[in-house]
Amino acid sequence: MNLFDHFAMTIDGKSIAGEAFIDVVNPATGETFARAPDCTPAQLDAAVASAQRAYPSWRARPIAERQALVAEAGQRLMAKAEEMARLFTLEQGRPVGAAKQEIQLGGYWLTQVAKAAPPRHIIEDSPTQRIETDYVPLGVVCAIAPWNFPVSLAMWKVAPALVAGNAMVLKPSPFTPLCTLKIGELFQEILPPGVLNVVSGGDALGPWMTAHPGFAKISFTGSTATGKKVMETAAKDLKRITLELGGNDAAIVLPDVDLDEVAHKIFFGAFFNTAQICVATKRLYVHQDIYEGLRDRLAAIARATRMGDGAEQGTVLGPIQNKRQYDRVMGLLEDARANNLTLIEAGPVPASGYFVPVTIVDDPPEDSRVVQEEAFGPILPMMRFSDIDEVIARANASEYGLAGAVWSSDVDAAIGIAKRMETGTIWVNQNLNLRPDTPFAGHKQSGFGVENGMEGLLEFMAPRSIYVSKAG
Ligand code: NAD
Repeated sequence: MNLFDHFAMTIDGKSIAGEAFIDVVNPATGETFARAPDCTPAQLDAAVASAQRAYPSWRARPIAERQALVAEAGQRLMAKAEEMARLFTLEQGRPVGAAKQEIQLGGYWLTQVAKAAPPRHIIEDSPTQRIETDYVPLGVVCAIAPWNFPVSLAMWKVAPALVAGNAMVLKPSPFTPLCTLKIGELFQEILPPGVLNVVSGGDALGPWMTAHPGFAKISFTGSTATGKKVMETAAKDLKRITLELGGNDAAIVLPDVDLDEVAHKIFFGAFFNTAQICVATKRLYVHQDIYEGLRDRLAAIARATRMGDGAEQGTVLGPIQNKRQYDRVMGLLEDARANNLTLIEAGPVPASGYFVPVTIVDDPPEDSRVVQEEAFGPILPMMRFSDIDEVIARANASEYGLAGAVWSSDVDAAIGIAKRMETGTIWVNQNLNLRPDTPFAGHKQSGFGVENGMEGLLEFMAPRSIYVSKAG
């Protein structure tokens, strides 16, 4: 398979060329380097119809067979990681080494979720009756992925949906369609036709999909604003939904930390992938006794961390992934400057492409936009605190509730604080650690439903209870 041209959709187990196209831009240069199919309504209908044809026999297979095929797909993806990493970097911007890790992670997710199976509960088995509850798949699932982790977050959906016995139509972001299209073609060799269809397109395609009557469920990862639209559309025919949405995660750093040890971890928990991570640290609350010490260490790491084209050796942080997001992040910076906030900027960064230097905002007011809004770019507001109760209240004063972190050498005290944070995931003395076997659920406006773990698998299934009378 040539990875670098002939980008085609996968519909009914075949590669389907575009009739129209969308441009794909390299964010490190701002230049178009490829084009991807812009799925037409008729092609979308064909993809949904093919999934509906594939669903009954996929569902009827023993789960062990589905698990084996999903695991094989995972192995195949991991084996392609090295080769596919360069394409990933071209479309997403992340440096090649980290790009390879994400593709491997996507494959790993498939192999691990392939070990899971839904439970079966015997509620009663008495002389008079037997009641048993098991779980059945939903039908055809619509999966919509974002651009920040385009491969792994798509596989978070593919793996449980297919193991559970559903068929799927998957849509990558218009900003990062290419690796996902190639993965669709790669899996044509493994999965029965129609079980996994991959379509790409512009801004119209997502709404067409969520409104399509052929889907039983929508599994969506993206912004909270779009998630609300998806939920509204899904209400029309009561499609099941899982929404993994935005976050504005707080990290709380207590005065007893070893600053030299934690500074690097905190830095990369905020800035890895140029801060375009749903669960990145986006508000950093630091005890006043160590505030300057941590600030100066983070600033030194920022100055020593090379930002540039991910295709170049030695690059650690790439560009903002797309122009729309770049403009948003620049808008937040302008607002910070207009309000005379103190900015500690690293740099220089390349003049072409969508580069924003790592910027630490030095103790901005709590109500500034840069604190209140999800930046999803390399701007980190860092605030002083002195009182634990007060800082927990500030951390929780957010419409979001995705993740958070607590840093302290007193682990028990840190766990006590973690339990008071209103988020679905909290890390103590670590961050960004997510696993296929551990539920990931956004609280408040960060989401609806669960990915990963047994709860994540069951999001693609419905309970079914069978009552059998033994009364004769
Ligand atoms: P986005 O909401 O703009 O787009 C996400 C996807 O939805 C894309 O594929 C897009 O084409 C599609 N889409 C856009 N409008 C749609 C509509 N009306 N109906 C259906 N689909 C539509 O988000 P983004 O900018 O790609 O991603 C960044 C956001 O995603 C951030 O807020 C980030 O925090 C969040 N995110 C959350 C998680 C999580 O697991 N909670 C993971 C990664 C990213």
